[in-house]
Amino acid sequence: MKPLFLEDAYLSTAEAEVAGIREDGGIVLDQTCFYATSGGQPGDTGFLERENGDKIVIAGTVTGETKAEIIHIPAPDQAVPEIGEKLVMHIDWDRRYRLMQMHTACHLLSVICPYPITGASVSETDSRVDFDMSDTIDKAEVTARLMELVNANHPIFTRWIAEADLDANPSLIKSKNVRPPRGQGQIRLVCIGEDSSIDSQPCGGTHVGETAEVGEIHIGKIEKKGKENRRFRIRFGPAPA
Ligand SMILES: [Zn+2]
Repeated sequence: MKPLFLEDAYLSTAEAEVAGIREDGGIVLDQTCFYATSGGQPGDTGFLERENGDKIVIAGTVTGETKAEIIHIPAPDQAVPEIGEKLVMHIDWDRRYRLMQMHTACHLLSVICPYPITGASVSETDSRVDFDMSDTIDKAEVTARLMELVNANHPIFTRWIAEADLDANPSLIKSKNVRPPRGQGQIRLVCIGEDSSIDSQPCGGTHVGETAEVGEIHIGKIEKKGKENRRFRIRFGPAPA
């Protein structure tokens, strides 16, 4: 199973062949552009187009026993494709693009708030990021600094490094609880700015290609969740006056 979204987050449609049907009805393909729920980013929805034009609606995408296994979950009462059948995948691009914008916004927030991340969750309308921090920080100031990074239109790209290089640079990891997947020898870094001048951190999610694509965002709320935990909520649009 080849995860096409790792190399090209903008691939909204591609051909695939049915590799297997699970007992629970989940569809496994030889390659996929459907992102599977992971790292706080929800999996893709969309449909698989059969040769006769019929659609198999996909309600969600998840990982299986290992992260390398990606399972497309059909909506109720969909036809079951044949093993070996060729299909054209279509992801719900509007939804995925909003998730890419919001996911990228989380990276930008982690540049402004250089504290360990204890949790994160991305949705189509907002994102939340929890930081291990006790400082008080002004949300209007954070919004202004976020928009500086957006407006500067820094490039965003990925790069693979050897696990040994990550071991030599442990400060690259910002997440306190989530460790990048190990055992494949290579770790995927998501880099922001020319020569990674703004940021780089391990991540397997999907991101926009330039920070300006995030669009206008603001910090809706900063909640105190315990003495050393602050929960930030990022929302689309200008800050309410
Ligand atoms: Zn990411």
